[in-house]
Amino acid sequence: ATPTALMVGTARSAKMGVLIKNGEVLEEVSDIDTVVFDKTGTITIGKPEVTDIIGDNEKVLSVAASLEESSEHPLASAIMKKATEEKIPLIKANHFEAIEGKGVKAEYNDQIAFVGSEKIASNIEIPQEISQNAEQLQRQAKIVVYVGFNNQIIGLIAIQDTPKPSSKEAITELKKRGLTTIMLTGDNEKVAQAIADEVGIDKVIAGVLPTEKAQHIKDLQNSGKKVAFVGDGINDAPALSTADVGIAMGSGTDIAIDSGGIVLVQNDLRGVVRALDISKKTFNRIK
Ligand code: ADP
Ligand code: MG
Repeated sequence: ATPTALMVGTARSAKMGVLIKNGEVLEEVSDIDTVVFDKTGTITIGKPEVTDIIGDNEKVLSVAASLEESSEHPLASAIMKKATEEKIPLIKANHFEAIEGKGVKAEYNDQIAFVGSEKIASNIEIPQEISQNAEQLQRQAKIVVYVGFNNQIIGLIAIQDTPKPSSKEAITELKKRGLTTIMLTGDNEKVAQAIADEVGIDKVIAGVLPTEKAQHIKDLQNSGKKVAFVGDGINDAPALSTADVGIAMGSGTDIAIDSGGIVLVQNDLRGVVRALDISKKTFNRIK
């Protein structure tokens, strides 16, 4: 493509809220055959809400919210909002510790307490009644976080983060153009699969720690794929820069935006389809 054609291509996409850093990025897009998506805030709205609490509701919420008060995770905001609505008294948790991709730990009433995935609860057995509830909730695409106190799982909190209305259409369009779509998430397999089914994603890679995301991108590249990664979080920065094309949500963290070659100003995954179409047109790769 001529320099003018490149300018036309990037200007045209910019008008649609798809900011493409330079001509090389635009060219790379035309070769992409696989699009990998982060889940929270990328495929989903990223404003999760508490839907169910299992166990002594007041105790479970009090422990969870007292710990999450020091966390900046989107799940923490959902729990804090619920605790505020229910007027749950909180206490000051000591020795707060965020365990990346797993949850949070702190002392509540001088006992060790935690909130998070089964990974954070790994050395404590989950009572059968609680684990049965968990499975059912996860099949409904709800994220389950376990609440532990004094070496026991005292309950769980189910949190729902629904897909953006445009996600399904974007994924359908990408598949129509022959691309493979993959979800890469730290979340549990069942929840991830339920959301993937809702939006039509081909493949799910779940239970991935933030530090492992970039390695999954490398593995795909080593198997010969040309990979775009779409994400929004601090944790997504390494995957965004490893991918052949990094696509950041405009609502994402500054570091995610800086790591991306493309920014979707409207946080709408249909921007990925637009970038692809404009790139093919600019480089005459329309089949
Ligand atoms: P994602 O890949 O969807 O952005 P994360 O890697 O941030 O997810 O988190 C993975 C999982 O770890 C969450 O689904 C949750 O179970 C648990 N987790 C992480 N941080 C917290 C927290 N502050 N409170 C409760 N659970 C958490
Ligand atoms: Mg995320």
